[in-house]
Amino acid sequence: MTGPLIAGARPRLASLPESPEVGWLFLDLNAYFASVEQQERPELRGRPVAVVPMITRNTCCIAASYEAKAFGVKTGVSLADARKLCPQIELVAGQPRLYVEYHHRILAAVEQCLPVDSVLSIDEMACRLLGRERQVENARRLARAVKAALRQVGETLRCSVGLAPNRFLAKVASDMQKPDGLTVLLARDLPQALFALAPGDLPGIGPRMQQRLARAGITTMPQMAALSPGAMRGLWGSVLGERMWHWMRGADFHDPEPPRKSLGKQHVLAPEFRPFAAAWPVALKMLHMAAGELRQLGLWARGLGLGCEFLGGPPPAFWQDQCRFLPCRNEFTLQAHLRRLWARCPPRPLILISVYFDRLAAEGERTLPLFEAADDRRDRASAAMDALNRKFGPQTVYPAGLYPARDSAPVRIPFRTIPRLDRFKAQTG
Ligand SMILES: [Mg+2]
Repeated sequence: MTGPLIAGARPRLASLPESPEVGWLFLDLNAYFASVEQQERPELRGRPVAVVPMITRNTCCIAASYEAKAFGVKTGVSLADARKLCPQIELVAGQPRLYVEYHHRILAAVEQCLPVDSVLSIDEMACRLLGRERQVENARRLARAVKAALRQVGETLRCSVGLAPNRFLAKVASDMQKPDGLTVLLARDLPQALFALAPGDLPGIGPRMQQRLARAGITTMPQMAALSPGAMRGLWGSVLGERMWHWMRGADFHDPEPPRKSLGKQHVLAPEFRPFAAAWPVALKMLHMAAGELRQLGLWARGLGLGCEFLGGPPPAFWQDQCRFLPCRNEFTLQAHLRRLWARCPPRPLILISVYFDRLAAEGERTLPLFEAADDRRDRASAAMDALNRKFGPQTVYPAGLYPARDSAPVRIPFRTIPRLDRFKAQTG
């Protein structure tokens, strides 16, 4: 699929005296997966649509169209409940590859209007505004241009845009009006402009933090805004509270992305892979995919974890175990570790498997193992496998043990990181 070239999408900006009013434009697509489905299948437009990972009984909605949201169907609702809330709901099996393709086309379209500074998830991106773009009227013009560019990618696509002095508040603003919103938060109106929100509407304040705030008597934004930076630091138990104090007042700084601590794959098994013995090739395939990502990111793992959720039966419903080792990223050694973990798992039918690496280390942080020679050969073999897979598609060469599962465990729908498109090539056939 090639995206349309959006010529001249960047609007002409008025030449106003420069006095910065907003610093960031944040863009959040509305009902993204469902809109892409409605774009691809016009018969779904105007109808309640729920996107599910696959159409089986034990699944839940990962996205809902606005028509479905009107019935109370939202992300995380089980399929059974969705059908109760809205009997005429249209169920669509998610197509991760398609959403990633659209993501890249959307990114290109936005970049015709202004450069994207950070991609925060498959449907969220932030742009830093510079010079005249920081004038609020000019920023609004850019926001409208971005919305128009999006409709050239797909006429069903809508986004909510937030304009604010920092990225944190721009995200908050993008959440204040949906769908197709455009909300501006100006420094001179802060923090009062946030008073209609609840503390839990701010990114980083989850249910646990909300409880902690409530125990301290803080349940509204005006109460939170009355706290001192020191009091916020104390409540959070970290510098994050103090940062939030400054963000709420428009200070423009954000933290560098923290280094990754773990990396893994989780997969709901299709019925034929649920018997314990049949699930092993799927676990191997997940390890294969995660190990490829580890090497692509230039990281080493010092731990491996395996988690299994059983399909019915007596408690416990979950089992998990971990092992630790010297920094490693070659598939052969990692497979041996996984095999040992697998042998410890009760051999019951499974519904879900997760395989993850932890205690990740970057190249420089790795302490060299004493007996490197054997692993060195294995590292080179893994690197050769990666090179072939990059050149000829991701499943050209893979460990023989995962052959029965070669078509299972497709690349999952990404929320945090956007896979490169070449990871999907093998699934298109
Ligand atoms: Mg969204």
